[in-house]
Amino acid sequence: MEFRDLKTQYESMKDEMQIALNKVLDAGNYIMGQEVRELETKLAHYVGKKYCITCANGTDALQLALMAWDIKEGDAVFVPDFTFFSSAEVVSLVGATPVFVDVYKETFNISIESLEEQIDRVVSEGKLTPKVIVAVDLFGQVADYARLRTIADKYNMYILEDAAQGFGGVLNGVRACNFGDISTTSFFPAKPLGCYGDGGAIFTDNPEWNEVLCSLRIHGKGKSKYDNIRIGLNSRLDTLQAAILNVKFDKFVEYELDKVDECAKYYTEKLENWVETPKVIEGGISSWAQYSILLNSQEERDGLQAFLKENDIPSMIYYEKPLHNQLAFAHIPYENKWYENTIMLCQRVLSLPMHPYLSEADMDKVVGCIVCYLEKVRKI
Ligand SMILES: *Cc1c(COP(=O)(O)O)cnc(C)c1O
Repeated sequence: MEFRDLKTQYESMKDEMQIALNKVLDAGNYIMGQEVRELETKLAHYVGKKYCITCANGTDALQLALMAWDIKEGDAVFVPDFTFFSSAEVVSLVGATPVFVDVYKETFNISIESLEEQIDRVVSEGKLTPKVIVAVDLFGQVADYARLRTIADKYNMYILEDAAQGFGGVLNGVRACNFGDISTTSFFPAKPLGCYGDGGAIFTDNPEWNEVLCSLRIHGKGKSKYDNIRIGLNSRLDTLQAAILNVKFDKFVEYELDKVDECAKYYTEKLENWVETPKVIEGGISSWAQYSILLNSQEERDGLQAFLKENDIPSMIYYEKPLHNQLAFAHIPYENKWYENTIMLCQRVLSLPMHPYLSEADMDKVVGCIVCYLEKVRKI
């Protein structure tokens, strides 16, 4: 059993994929070929934004957004404590300071109360200027943007939506990557929509930011690549990856999103009396980048993971360590009491195999093993 089965996915679309790849190889437009433009048009339309700017990966996408807003030393950027390292790494990369914010234990997404607490603290300390809220759509579910927008407006801050895991998710008919002033995603192979290498994209409605982002991703180009009007990055999406994504996007929309939602419902139905199963917010649809359960304790979680492994069932811990405890951020001051939910989640969370090609037999095996283990350790 695979944690995320990319091989079966490839087998199911192999012929189309080879035609698409051969077309690029025959044309020889390896950099910024027409497939890149085609993909950008499709994705912008899908998420409902005017502009899509593809780039080399989801981390660059976040960094480019901060660069476009000229975020720099002295600026505070608020980032959930419970997320992948990139969401905060880019803040330090542009010279600004990440300020970590706790999350809700029900949705795993940024807590509005903790955010306000951290903003108030930064303002009263008077050393940093609050500029951006990075809202992560963790595990495939969009954050609480209605309330985030109220806070962003109150403090005159931008919202940067990190939808690396959220692409395909929906809230009240609005798709992930539509909620931020700028939104980003990643096409890393294991993400909801992945390519066969690294890739990323940025979305916005703002024509000026679009122009700056298009320049920044190609060495700060002006009229041409050899006319450089600002310091940028080399961060383009390969034409081959765009061709792959053009094929995969159609399947993603046609059936993959429905399939993962069915799998999630099946797991929840079988597991909800045993563990805390993931809650989907009202009006929301998750793209199920991860299906993450909560066990009663770290001991129980670690024991279950070992038991699953003995039975050849892969599982992952997203995330083992709160960002505020990462060595790379040792210079950022914190108090553990600010991050109670994140600390608890890191001890108790476990992500199960989840992908559109997961069979009922495999899910039954996962569920059977979990129940068997919990019966044993809970002495039922
Ligand atoms: C994967 C991920 C990223 C980074 O994407 P890459 O394409 O790997 O650079 C950023 N944020 C979150 C939340 C992610 O899960």
